[in-house]
Amino acid sequence: MNFELGEEHIALRRLVRDFAEKEVAPIAAEVDASGQFPEGVVTKLGELGLLGLPFPEEYGGGGADELSYAILLEELARVDCGLGLSVEAHISLGGSPLNRWGTPEQKRRWLIPLAQGRMMGSIGLTEPEAGSDLGGISTTAALDGDEWVINGNKCFITNAGAGSHGLVNVLTVTGQREDGRKEYSIIIVPRGTPGYEVSEPRQKLGLHSSDTRDLSFTDCRVPRENLLGERGAGYRQALAVLDEGRFGIAALGVGLSQACLELSLQYARERKQFGKPLFDFQVIQFKLADIAINVELARLITYKAAVLCQEGKPYTKEAAMAKVFASEVAVRAAEEGVQIHGGYGYMSECPLSRFYRDAKLLTIGEGTSEVQRMVIARHLP
Ligand SMILES: Cc1cc2nc3c(=O)[nH]c(=O)nc-3n(C[C@H](O)[C@H](O)[C@H](O)COP(=O)(O)OP(=O)(O)OC[C@H]3O[C@@H](n4cnc5c(N)ncnc54)[C@H](O)[C@@H]3O)c2cc1C
Repeated sequence: MNFELGEEHIALRRLVRDFAEKEVAPIAAEVDASGQFPEGVVTKLGELGLLGLPFPEEYGGGGADELSYAILLEELARVDCGLGLSVEAHISLGGSPLNRWGTPEQKRRWLIPLAQGRMMGSIGLTEPEAGSDLGGISTTAALDGDEWVINGNKCFITNAGAGSHGLVNVLTVTGQREDGRKEYSIIIVPRGTPGYEVSEPRQKLGLHSSDTRDLSFTDCRVPRENLLGERGAGYRQALAVLDEGRFGIAALGVGLSQACLELSLQYARERKQFGKPLFDFQVIQFKLADIAINVELARLITYKAAVLCQEGKPYTKEAAMAKVFASEVAVRAAEEGVQIHGGYGYMSECPLSRFYRDAKLLTIGEGTSEVQRMVIARHLP
C-alpha cells in the first residue's frame, strides 16, 4: 500500500490548481452572483485537454486514470464547485456512457467532440415523479420504423443549457420484459432535435455557475442507431454510470472541504479578538483539526474508490461510502468555516458563504445520502 501520489498525478494537480487559481478564482464570485455559465473557462479547460481527461486517446481523450479524474474535480471544486459539477456531469454522465457502450461510429461522432471539449454532454435520468426511485421513470421511447419516438419530461439536468451543449443520454422505458417489468434503454438525443425542448435555467440555492434545466420530449424522433448499448440494458447502465459519478461527487466534496480548511485557517491566524488571533483559542483549533481530519479521510476513501474503479475491481460500496462521507464532510466543513469567519462568513463577498450554499447539493445529486446508505447496507458482508 502506498499513500504517495506519483509524479504524473502531482503534475496534474499542479496544472489544474494553477489554472483554477488564475482563470477561475477571479470570476468565481461574479459567476455565482450572475448565474452565468462560465463558457470561456470551459472552453479553456477543453483546450487543455481536461474535459476528456479519462477517455481513450484514440477518441480525443487524455488516456488518464480515474485517480487523475478525481484530482481534476477536487482542484476545480477547491475554487468553484459549480464548475466542478459541470465538468463532472460532462465527463461521468455525458461522455462516460458513450465511452463504455458506444459503437465505434457513435464514439467518432460524439465522444471525440465531447473529449476535446468542443461539445458538452449530460444525462437525463431524473423526472418530476422519479428521482431516487429511478425505476419509476415514465419517459417512453417507441420504435417507429427506423426511429425512436420519445415522449416525457426530465428535470434538473446539468449542462443542458451550456452554449456548447451537444447531447443528452436519456433513460427511457422502451417496452415491457417477459416477466412483466419495464424495459429501460438509454437513447442519445442530440441538441436541436425537433420535439426536444430545454427550459429556462432553474434558479438554485447554490452552484450558480452550473447550468441546470428541465427537458421535455414531445414526439421527439431520433434514428434507431442512437440507442446506447443493448436495448433493455438502460437501468443497469444508469447504475454503473452513477457509481463513477459518485466518486466524482465525492472528489468535489474533498476539494470544497479543502478550500474551507485553507480559508478558515488563514482567517483564524489573521483575525484578532480579545487581543490575540482566533487560532490561539483552543475551541477554534479543535474546529480546524476536525475539518482537517475529515478532509483527509474523505480524500482517502475517494481515492480508494477511484483506484478500485481504474483497476476494474468492484467499487460500488466504496463509491457510495466516498460520496456519503465526503459530501457530509463538505457540508460540515462549510458550516464550521462560516462559523470561524463570524459575521463576515455570512456576507456574500466571503467565499465561505458560497461554499456553504454549494455544499448541500453534494448530499443530494447522483443519489442522496439516504440512498448511499441503502447501497452500502446492501453490500455489507
Ligand atoms: C443541482 C442539481 C443537478 C442535478 N443534475 C442532474 C442531472 O444532470 N441528471 C439527472 O438525471 N438528475 C440530476 N439531478 C437530480 C438528482 O440526481 C436528484 O435530485 C436526486 O437523485 C434525488 O432525487 P429527488 O430530487 O427526486 O428526491 P426524492 O427521490 O424525492 O427524495 C426526497 C427525499 O426522500 C429520501 N428518500 C427517497 N427514497 C427513500 C427511501 N427508499 N428510503 C429513505 N429515504 C428515501 C431521499 O433521500 C430524499 O431525502 C440534479 C439535481 C440537482 C439539485
